[in-house]
Amino acid sequence: MTSLERLPAPDSKVAAKIFPSPNHGERVDNNGGPRLPDMLVLHYTGMPDAGEALQWLCNPISQVSAHYFVFENGHVLQLVPEARRAWHAGRSSWDGETDINSASIGIEIANPGHPGGMPPYPEPQIAAVVALCRDIVARWRIPGPRVLAHSDIAPDRKCDPGENFPWERLHAAGVGHWVRPAAVGGGRFLSPGDRGQPVEALQAMFALYGYGLPITGLYDNSTEAVVRAFQRHCRQERVDGIADASTLTTLRDLIASRPVAVA
Ligand SMILES: [Zn+2]
Repeated sequence: MTSLERLPAPDSKVAAKIFPSPNHGERVDNNGGPRLPDMLVLHYTGMPDAGEALQWLCNPISQVSAHYFVFENGHVLQLVPEARRAWHAGRSSWDGETDINSASIGIEIANPGHPGGMPPYPEPQIAAVVALCRDIVARWRIPGPRVLAHSDIAPDRKCDPGENFPWERLHAAGVGHWVRPAAVGGGRFLSPGDRGQPVEALQAMFALYGYGLPITGLYDNSTEAVVRAFQRHCRQERVDGIADASTLTTLRDLIASRPVAVA
């Protein structure tokens, strides 16, 4: 049975049509029961050519996919039904959960990414991503703080969709969680190699927000990766892995403004 037979029309009206990928399975919860998506994860393809990226996501050899694919011109395809578990997150973690593929809907945005010099996302593409996210978040009631970058859930391995991605614009459209970043300036900061209680406190704040970061009291590679991931999403002006005053204040403001969960 193909996706086309099961799903004659795209789940989202923003998608023009279905272009099926075979790379998906059943969504499962921790007990092996059924799981509904309550997260949205954004990616860039990181390949020079959108068509090649699309073919890769639909090739059974690749073992990767996403629910949606957004071209530079704003054209949107659905590759995997939303009810199914697409293979986009890989080894990842958020808010104590590690099977992010079962928990999430994934969107691949065609962009060459860091390897291709990080070209800006064209306007029609951003408009399409915003419309698609709005639709998905509304239908699945996905809370703002659970709209995330691939880099947020896999900071050690991934940096997509990158510090060019307009999270502020998405937030202005009612999608995701974002606060205006505190100005970059002087003040106390923590950096790689530091250790002790202040580093513990920093790690605890990131873990409280959802990042998969052990609280060790040592500003190690994992801590630096999480700081970079946070900066890519929330303090894009400077992505350097150093927890400066602006980074700390922005993180604190973000936690303080987190919407109360609705049961
Ligand atoms: Zn990705």
